[in-house]
Amino acid sequence: MYHMLYLSTARNLFSDEQLENILTVSRHNNESSAITGVLLYHDGGILQVLEGEQEKVDHLFEKISADHRHYGTLKVLEHSSDERYFDNWSMGFRRLSDKEWNDVEGYLPLSAMHAVIDTQDRKTDQILRFIQSFCRSNF
Ligand code: FAD
Repeated sequence: MYHMLYLSTARNLFSDEQLENILTVSRHNNESSAITGVLLYHDGGILQVLEGEQEKVDHLFEKISADHRHYGTLKVLEHSSDERYFDNWSMGFRRLSDKEWNDVEGYLPLSAMHAVIDTQDRKTDQILRFIQSFCRSNF
């Protein structure tokens, strides 16, 4: 199982309707490609985790990166493991409050993350587990 986390910025702040549209398409496509993950959104900031077969996730990431509705897609984490962290979500979603985004930033220095973290690093597992437990208690 391959996991990746990327950050990006919405070109214009997403309306509820735009988000709904992205999520409907994502859930439909991801389900047929056995991709799971979560998308966290706050004030134009996007954090998405994708997990599944590496080839499928890479292909999807190429498509997502080319999507003009956001820009600056930056892959900041890659990880491999035997398990899925987000097995219940073809694409979980939460629009975060200021406090929730700050909580996530308190743990993940999002603005300072600019490189892929070593896949062997135990830290990648800790980061994904943090997002998993954040989502489990807030979704
Ligand atoms: P098409 O539907 O033919 O779209 C081609 C291009 O047209 C898209 O890349 C996009 O630039 C544009 N486009 C499509 N629909 C709209 C619209 N309603 N308004 C404006 N422009 C549009 N897709 C997934 O399958 N799984 C995901 O997990 C996923 N996550 C995403 C996260 C974010 C933050 C964003 C912005 C998009 C995400 N998408 C996701 C959507 C993805 O970028 C593609 O639009 C989608 O997969 C459909 O791809 P397609 O090749 O069928 O392209």
